[in-house]
Amino acid sequence: MGYSDLSTLFKDISEHVKKTRNLELTNDLLDLQQKMLELFTENQDLKQQLADMQSEQDLAHKVVFQGGAYYNKETLEGPFCTSCWESEKKLIHLTTSTLRVHGVQSMCPNCKSHFDVPHNRSLE
Ligand SMILES: [Zn+2]
Repeated sequence: MGYSDLSTLFKDISEHVKKTRNLELTNDLLDLQQKMLELFTENQDLKQQLADMQSEQDLAHKVVFQGGAYYNKETLEGPFCTSCWESEKKLIHLTTSTLRVHGVQSMCPNCKSHFDVPHNRSLE
């Protein structure tokens, strides 16, 4: 039963309750309405969480580790930051580093990690 069906049903019950002029019943109905709204909100949140997890999982199947960084094997995008992907599941493109010593060639603009991976290296 969807929200609109329940709304219609609730409206009908409200009309019936109104006719009884029973204050206790009216208050119970208001409590029930409040609980229903809480359940709908929780349900929406759970649906959103599930959708987010699903898309995260879909993305995880496309991400591969190669030569010190992550790449999207479907779109061939990358290299992406290893730290941001492993800790937050965020794909952050590496950019050119100003620190070009000790083999450091690129950095993550998000977490500021440095990488010995050219920012324009492509997936092999
Ligand atoms: Zn990062």
